[in-house]
Amino acid sequence: MMNDNSRIALVTGGARGIGRAIALALAQPGLTIYLNDVVLGEEAVRTQQEVEAKGAAARLVEFNVADAAAVNQGLDYILKESGRLDILVNNAGITRDNLIVRMKETEWDAVLGVNLKGAFNCIRAVSRPMVKQRGGRIINISSVVGVMGNAGQANYVASKAGLIGLTKTVARELASRNITVNAVAPGFIQTEMTEALPEVTRNLMLAQIPLGRFGTSEEVAQAVAFLASDAATYITGQVIHVNGGMLMV
Ligand code: NAD
Repeated sequence: MMNDNSRIALVTGGARGIGRAIALALAQPGLTIYLNDVVLGEEAVRTQQEVEAKGAAARLVEFNVADAAAVNQGLDYILKESGRLDILVNNAGITRDNLIVRMKETEWDAVLGVNLKGAFNCIRAVSRPMVKQRGGRIINISSVVGVMGNAGQANYVASKAGLIGLTKTVARELASRNITVNAVAPGFIQTEMTEALPEVTRNLMLAQIPLGRFGTSEEVAQAVAFLASDAATYITGQVIHVNGGMLMV
């Protein structure tokens, strides 16, 4: 697929953070990347320019992944414009942390709605065109906590564990059409969020990581780019852990 000049990719939540790094890692001449976000602002435009500087085409497509009708409309637009979709990266994600005794129904619904139903909405919308074109790559961004559990994140962990089950099931359903479906599970990644943590918390987290440091968005993005590449044609239904060794499975 990497040598096909007309490849089309969609990265949800692609404006910033890990999504931005994924778009940049995929970017190369011949590829058109649709950058999705729930609101497209300056960050998205900056990412678009950075992707284009690497020789890929970049288009912005605004929709809320949790809204099935909006997703279908967004995908209709992409398919009308490009005629196909080769790579879907379900990266959009949110947190609404709380201990289970205090967790509000709205916090549960919001996180499950974006992280899990959002991926379902996008996968369902791309599955028919990918089946028709007899090929495609779907990559879901899960998390190490989806496998380990994490106090204070019942909603987030349930969504990320759910993504792994979704990945394995859709991988089985679509394999005969040469569509691979995999998950990437990042560990602690250096973001504004981890930088803002108190030193004590940071040190506690670092003590759990054999490589002794947080990962970078680029290191997560490299695993996604590998799964989207011609080097990964025989890999499906898998979870690639990018966590510095904090969980070994
Ligand atoms: P981020 O908040 O920087 O980026 C997430 C992007 O998703 C944002 O641009 C946001 O606007 C977008 N988004 C949110 N809701 C959306 C919706 N309903 N529709 C469309 N877009 C929406 O977060 P990040 O750290 O870059 O995380 C990216 C993914 O990686 C998430 O799925 C997250 O759960 C996962 N992850 C992150 C870490 C980490 O340490 N940062 C670790 C493991 C997994």
